Amino acid sequence: MKKIGILGSTGSIGTQALDIIKMNQGRFRVTALTCGKRVDLLESQILKFHPDIVCVEQEADALRLRRQFPKTEVLWGKEGLKQTAAQADSEMILNALVGMRGLEPTLKAIDAGRDVALANKETLVAGGAIVMRAVEERGVRLIPVDSEHSAIFQALQGNEGQKIRRILLTASGGPFRGYTLDRLERVTVEQALRHPNWSMGSKITIDSATMMNKGLEVIEARWLFDVEPDIINVVVQRESIIHSMVEFADGSIMAQLGMPDMRVPISYAFAYPDRLVNHFEGVDFFQLGQLHFESVDLQVFRCLGMAYEALKLGGSYPVVLNAANEVLVQQFLEGKISFIAIQNTIEKVLEQHMPRYDMDLDDILEIDSEIRERLSVWEQR
Ligand code: NAD
Ligand code: MG
Repeated sequence: MKKIGILGSTGSIGTQALDIIKMNQGRFRVTALTCGKRVDLLESQILKFHPDIVCVEQEADALRLRRQFPKTEVLWGKEGLKQTAAQADSEMILNALVGMRGLEPTLKAIDAGRDVALANKETLVAGGAIVMRAVEERGVRLIPVDSEHSAIFQALQGNEGQKIRRILLTASGGPFRGYTLDRLERVTVEQALRHPNWSMGSKITIDSATMMNKGLEVIEARWLFDVEPDIINVVVQRESIIHSMVEFADGSIMAQLGMPDMRVPISYAFAYPDRLVNHFEGVDFFQLGQLHFESVDLQVFRCLGMAYEALKLGGSYPVVLNAANEVLVQQFLEGKISFIAIQNTIEKVLEQHMPRYDMDLDDILEIDSEIRERLSVWEQR
């Protein structure tokens, strides 16, 4: 039985991961579960999966859980999350946390010699260099869960070391595909939360609407596959059937296709290099009829262009891009700023940034909190 710890078990990815584990009885054992505020859901997960260790955000919740589950080790807060990643007796940690809070637990899991199944893309955007260095030093596997990166990872199987001409990173285009800047000015939170193809947590759903999600994924691909930004091309594939493609030096293109269902890449990460048997819906090509391809209008969806720019400039720019985006997406969700203010403000913050290079973890965390503090007091946007 493969022992897996799940960070962020109450979220969209976390709950789908537990579905996979439930469907494959006897194959996996859950060692750890963690959540932020959804302690009620965590309680039912503890009853079903009997983890050795759990972690919640608040101390009060942890103390209550300790009384309720005396056989389970219960931790809380940021330190608890790091400890859970390192301490749980796991072969693999699935990081399904949202945001920068995933960085330190990822590093702890790697340091402890665990393989990491990574959904938490913000980790690689902010800390790509140090995470990949740690992976190399500890000789563990970092397996992508993000559907595009899982597709690329799958296309690369058996082609290791071959020259890659292009990575074709596919995008659905989100709910505002084809919009002009003018129309984007007037969109609401409710509209932005209505993704055409995927049902996901609110942060990534807004990122998909601004196309920052694709920008974060370009940076994620750069680190996971050690490729230059210039060969990563974003292709809008409206139906989200082709999850991404790799073009090799000989002109061959390998693609991975399937219905938009995150349980497939999660299964692949859990069982790699094996494949699990499942009964999820397959693609009906006759019903589908056609697949559509288009480019992204970078004048409208400026987040994507800014992400490329931040990646090329390097150093602390991607940390700033990510931190500003996290704060602004939250402010948009709370109704404090407009949709378009997300990209306008990130642009200003990047312009004003004095970059730093060769950062260690402390530098990254310091820059991240500087940006968060600054944006929390900025008012007029
Ligand atoms: P989500 O918001 O649904 O879940 C996030 C999880 O993190 C929850 O368990 C939540 O309790 C926990 N969490 C939140 N705040 C916390 C805090 N302060 N302390 C401790 N735990 C906290 O998010 P999601 O959609 O599952 O996405 C998770 C990650 O996976 C993101 O990085 C996202 O970009 C990536 N991803 C998600 C999908 C998807 O389909 N949902 C697809 C690809 C990549
Ligand atoms: Mg994705």
